[in-house]
Amino acid sequence: MARTMKLTCPNCNKPSFSAWRKQLIGPGRTMLCEHCGARVSLSKLHAVPALMMGFAYPVLAILALAEAGFPGLGIVTVLSLGSMGLYQHYLVPLVVCD
Ligand SMILES: [Zn+2]
Repeated sequence: MARTMKLTCPNCNKPSFSAWRKQLIGPGRTMLCEHCGARVSLSKLHAVPALMMGFAYPVLAILALAEAGFPGLGIVTVLSLGSMGLYQHYLVPLVVCD
């Protein structure tokens, strides 16, 4: 996952977006293609599991803290953020907004 790698625009197929921007926008927010100006967002359907993980994280974090203390909290945090990031990067497609 190189920082310089660009994701292609679903409208013009040119490399327009950094992987980090995709991680940061989240569903419901858009970014503009630097080549064609299309408004691009994440697929809402595919973003649902990532959102669910986002809601589950605080619960898991509290459980881990109660059961295993700060090492447990650290493990849950790394696993949650890592799996969400990988899921969003590889499995959630970019879509053009109308
Ligand atoms: Zn474009």
